[in-house]
This record gives sequence, structure tokens and C-alpha cells, in this order.
Amino acid sequence: MNRGFVSFVGAGPGDPELITHKGLRRLREAEVVLHDRLIPPPLLEEVSEGAIVVDVDKAPGRASVGQGHVNWLLVEWARRRERIVRLKGGDPAIFGRLGEEIEAVRSAGIAFEVIPGVTAATAAAARLGISLTERGSAAMVIFTEDYPASIDWDLLARAEGTLAFYMAVDALDSITASLTVLGRDPREPAIVVERAGVDGERVIAGRLGEIADEARRAGVASPAVLLTGPTVAHASVPLSVRRVLARTEI
Ligand code: SAH
Repeated sequence: MNRGFVSFVGAGPGDPELITHKGLRRLREAEVVLHDRLIPPPLLEEVSEGAIVVDVDKAPGRASVGQGHVNWLLVEWARRRERIVRLKGGDPAIFGRLGEEIEAVRSAGIAFEVIPGVTAATAAAARLGISLTERGSAAMVIFTEDYPASIDWDLLARAEGTLAFYMAVDALDSITASLTVLGRDPREPAIVVERAGVDGERVIAGRLGEIADEARRAGVASPAVLLTGPTVAHASVPLSVRRVLARTEI
């Protein structure tokens, strides 16, 4: 008999206060917590004493365990305990391989719920004081991972709205080149937000055609998102943040 119940909980983008009330309650009540590496450490202090806490990105003797092992852990713990929390960075349903984990849990006959979280792109927009949509100029938002082979770059180049690129640090050159070659205006405002809402947060602002160079010069590292689109022009950078501006200021 499977008595376990799995809560997939979004931990938010790094600021420990950006978890939902419901997610925090599940975390406090959990008997088992399986979490990613990029989880705000203060959240793990909320876990009750005696709970089992597993960093699924680590395994003895290995740098990281595969997705198959995570799926297996979820099912095995749900067979042994009642309240399992699978804590994932940002929103679990955005670039989090949630579908595969749900499939594993569902096919084992285990009940589950998903508690959403604040995703990196909306957290970055909040830090910049911008809207991702705007009546008349940005009627759509596209969240994308950079997989050049599978992405419809024509669509992205034409999209009248905001583009948010996740996992983009190593691909900024190819992303910006693909967009501008296919017709997106290289003068469009573009911003890279590194570690949005976390210590060491930085904002690199510029134009689409030059943002890759600027980010390289600043030594931007993961995690970071690239935002581009008309509303990015309205960004204001919090005073607490180190700001690196492109020579052509937006
Ligand atoms: N599920 C997560 C995304 C996981 S993919 C979410 O909803 O946010 C990991 C990518 O998310 C990183 O490569 C980076 O592009 C982005 N990311 C996560 N946390 C971030 C942060 N604090 N600041 C900027 N980007 C972040």
C-alpha cells in the first residue's frame, strides 16, 4: 500500500521569503524533504527535527545523481513515509523536469499536489520594477531554455513581447546573434539579472546587440536570466544591486 503523499513545492528564486505560505507549511510538516542544490539554505532550517533531508543533486562519490535516481527516490520514500516534500527552485513547473517526476509518482499510484513558486523571470522583473507585459507593446511573454536546435528562432525574433531566457549564461552570444540575424532590433533593451533577489545580485543592462559582450566583461555566472523586449526599457535597478551598464545606456 502506498500511504505517501508527495508535495512538489516551489522554493522561489533564492530569497527565502519568496516561498508561498502553503509551501512553507508543507516543508515544516514534512517527514522527508528531497531538494535541489539551488535552494535557499534558510528554508532548510524550517524543516522539523527528525525529518530526513536529501540533497538530490549530490550522491556519495558522484557529482550529481541522474533524474532517474530522483524519480526512484521519490517513489521509494513515498512508500515508507506519509509526507514527502519535493522542493524545487523557482516554480517547479518551469524548466524543472516536473513532468518526469509526476509521471514516476503517478505511475506508482502515489497521490501528489503541486504548489507553485515564483519563477526566476518574474522575480527578476520584480527586482527591476518592470512589467513583463504591457498593453499595446508586449502582449506576450515567452519563457525559454536555450536549446538552439529545438527552438523556433523565427518566432522569437518576431514575437512582439518579452522574451525570458533561462540557463542562458553560456549561450548569450548565440541567443543574441540568432535573434538579431533573424530581424530582432539589436537596439532593443536587454538585461541580464544574475542571482535575482539573492546576495551578490547583479544587473547588466544594455542593448540586445551588445549584451553578450557586456555580460562577458562583467563575468556573469549562473544562475542568471536574460530579459529582452520593449518593457525592459522601463527598468530601474534597486540601489542595493551592483549595476554594470553598457556604454550605450538604456
Ligand atoms: N524552476 C526554476 C528554473 C530552473 S532552471 C524557476 O522557475 O525559476 C535554472 C535557471 O533558472 C538558471 O539557469 C537561471 O537561468 C534561472 N534562475 C534560477 N534562479 C535564478 C535567480 N535567482 N536569478 C536569476 N536566474 C535564476
